[in-house]
Amino acid sequence: MTTPSSTPSLRLDGRAFIHGQRVWAKAGARFDNISPVDGRLLCEVARCDDKDIDAAVLSARQAFDDKRWRGLAPAARKRVLIKWADLVTAHADELAMLETLDMGKPIRYAQSVDVNSTANCLRWYGEAIDKVYDEIAPTPAHALALITREPMGVVGVIVPWNYPMIMAAWKIAPALASGNSVVLKPSEKSPLTALRLAELAMDAGVPEGVLNVVPGFGTEAGSPLALHMDVDCIGFTGSTRVGKHIHIMAGQSNLKRAWTELGGKSPFIVMDDCPDLERAVQTAVGSIFFNQGESCNAPSRLLVHHKIKEAFLERALQLLPQYQPADPLHKDTVMGAIVDRTQMDTVLGYIKQGQNEGAKLLAGGHAARTESGGFYIQPTVFDAVQSHMTIAREEIFGPVLSVMTFNDVSQAVQIANDHVYGLQASIWTRDINCAHGVARALRAGTVHVNQYDEDDITVPFGGYKQSGMGRDKSLHAFDKYTELKTTWIRIDSPV
Ligand code: NAP
Ligand code: MG
Repeated sequence: MTTPSSTPSLRLDGRAFIHGQRVWAKAGARFDNISPVDGRLLCEVARCDDKDIDAAVLSARQAFDDKRWRGLAPAARKRVLIKWADLVTAHADELAMLETLDMGKPIRYAQSVDVNSTANCLRWYGEAIDKVYDEIAPTPAHALALITREPMGVVGVIVPWNYPMIMAAWKIAPALASGNSVVLKPSEKSPLTALRLAELAMDAGVPEGVLNVVPGFGTEAGSPLALHMDVDCIGFTGSTRVGKHIHIMAGQSNLKRAWTELGGKSPFIVMDDCPDLERAVQTAVGSIFFNQGESCNAPSRLLVHHKIKEAFLERALQLLPQYQPADPLHKDTVMGAIVDRTQMDTVLGYIKQGQNEGAKLLAGGHAARTESGGFYIQPTVFDAVQSHMTIAREEIFGPVLSVMTFNDVSQAVQIANDHVYGLQASIWTRDINCAHGVARALRAGTVHVNQYDEDDITVPFGGYKQSGMGRDKSLHAFDKYTELKTTWIRIDSPV
């Protein structure tokens, strides 16, 4: 356990959380957790493997079988989840600092977005669970058919590093609310908040074994979880490449339910009758550079009608100085560090490829703040991007905007849908027919009209096509962590 020099009171504990205890990996292996803020060592983290996954799954299974959690009334689970949410809020500064040091996002957003959304998610599913009812089917009078939902059992959760707490909460909250036990594998790049969240869960009254957190690498800790014969369901958020592998592993093992929230390359379409060009520019630029561009739903393909492209881009470039990366720990910073050197090199590689394939680099394109020892990239804008280019086809997951133009609405929709991903999309127009028509035509899980930033726990989040299957958030998330049971009862009525 260590404390960082910038915040001496902060406790950095990289041990796993299994059966209610902080433990090192059974084999004793550890890995260095480097902060992208300045490249310094934060702490060592338990490098868990299949033996630790076995221990966590066994603990989760025992907790499920003896009903210490699922046997509680929904109202009792509700009280625990709400208390947990309150504890997250009470530890907001600590959790935000851990998130920023671990993955580099600006501290202001770690507080206002990540901590708040996490607490809200836990509270919302806690509030919901004693308000959802089961069903009775409209069968003939001699029979009664009950359609009930039951928890699946042990749920494995594997999440990425871009919103470590939020991605975990979107799965853990509905899974635990509906009575499951959980084994969570956070990203090796950002394990610290998940581990702290588990401690707070126990403080709130989640019994031991019901929530376990097993840090480690994807192939060493993630694969054993996805392949485990005693895990009933896996909730995964991450890349499409690994997501496909998760489905294969589910099929190779016990056909566990597998839900995958994957990549995106979301189109942001601006028609020439855009009702508010200034707001459209601010929103496009703000959304692509938010979280350093490391967002699955970042609007990374900007499709602008050719008549307004020059005006749009002129204004967009004027805004870029606001998005120059700065110290993530400073309260005014809006763009922080890229999660690690590997990701920084990947993004810089895509930028080079964009130039090589003929896109026009308008701004940025280089690493920044190299003197800090951390990993930073300038906000980058490419013009003259064509659909076949790598920077239009692949998810860059960095602060890079690819600008394309179109001549009419059919061409815009054709370009937008010509993609393996279908996570989100946006259409900006004054014409109500165009708005509704395009919203229907776009193959995406969420379509925004004349905005991009609305988001709420009440609505489903997920994608079409290779952006994955299943939905996080909203009451629909319960579908992923419950089995439907039909119980037929014969009624030989004496009256
Ligand atoms: P990733 O490389 O796919 O990793 C995601 C998680 O899977 C990590 O915990 C990783 O572990 C683990 N993993 C890697 N290989 C594995 C394997 N063979 N078996 C089991 N687990 C394995 O994705 P990422 O780079 O962390 O995250 C970025 C991606 O997430 C982007 O594609 C983004 O679009 C997507 N994302 C999607 C959503 C959504 O809701 N649709 C939301 C956020 C992010 P280690 O990294 O520790 O090795
Ligand atoms: Mg880290």
